[in-house]
Amino acid sequence: MVLKGLEVAKKIEQDIIKELRHIDNFKLDAMIVGGDKASEAYLNAKVKLCKELGIDLRVTKLSETISEEELLAHIEEINSSDTSGFILENPLPKKFHLERVLSHIDPKIDMDCLTPYNQGRLFAGHEIISPATPKAVEQLMDYYDIEVEGKNVVILGRSVVVGRPIFVLMLNKNASVTILHSRSKNIEHVLKEADIVISAIGKAKYIKKHMVNKHSILIDVGINVIDGKLYGDVDYDNLVDYVDKITPVPGGVGVITNRILIMNAITLYKMRRMYENGCKDSK
Ligand code: NAD
Repeated sequence: MVLKGLEVAKKIEQDIIKELRHIDNFKLDAMIVGGDKASEAYLNAKVKLCKELGIDLRVTKLSETISEEELLAHIEEINSSDTSGFILENPLPKKFHLERVLSHIDPKIDMDCLTPYNQGRLFAGHEIISPATPKAVEQLMDYYDIEVEGKNVVILGRSVVVGRPIFVLMLNKNASVTILHSRSKNIEHVLKEADIVISAIGKAKYIKKHMVNKHSILIDVGINVIDGKLYGDVDYDNLVDYVDKITPVPGGVGVITNRILIMNAITLYKMRRMYENGCKDSK
């Protein structure tokens, strides 16, 4: 069975539309520093989606010649504005200290869940929001009723934005979780034993038929561009008729992520309104 991300994305979109009916003054901010082509493409996709959903998205474009102090000042300005959610496009030019910059974002508008506060909550199991791609994986699994509790889930990749948060989300769903990475040994043996494989390594067609069992579910987060064409980490063509369930690339996890970002901003907005009305954080 092919797990189609677009169906999940459309369902989340309907949820967003319903939520937006009940809230006012919802507006978002995005910032891009420098001219990284991938960042521009990601930003354009967000601009397009917000336009379709009638959401006011303000975009700040900054030259990479600005100093870190100037960049922080721009972020402070957005922090103290009336925005409901903020996203800083990644990757930032290398001259900036990423951790320092991210820690200047107000966690209350951090719709990408990148600030130390929101990451800390996630890793402690008290998350308000989760990073978009890991949450997209979880939502896709929920949509297709994929049972996770007690299952042997193997994640390939340990990055802070993808592999590690997926580990936490799967653990919170009572899976037995293993993370494999570039220094892991016996990768093929571990993959073969997995009920569910989630791959986020960025190596085109890395997972081949002989590495997995035919009852497994393969969730492919990888996005690899070869000669202008997109490929996942999974050798999709040779596995689609072999395994139990599989996500395509494109059309799998990737199409869900921007909707999750907007849902995150809505969650943060509602949380703030709750505090303003005197409620305590019960989580
Ligand atoms: P990254 O480069 O930060 O991390 C890659 C991870 O893979 C590292 O932890 C590394 O140890 C591990 N790794 C590399 N080669 C390996 C191997 N042979 N065996 C086992 N582990 C190996 O990348 P990232 O930012 O986590 O992104 C991973 C992939 O997911 C990329 O293809 C990226 O384009 C894609 N991605 C997709 C989305 C989406 O929305 N679908 C979002 C973000 C990233």
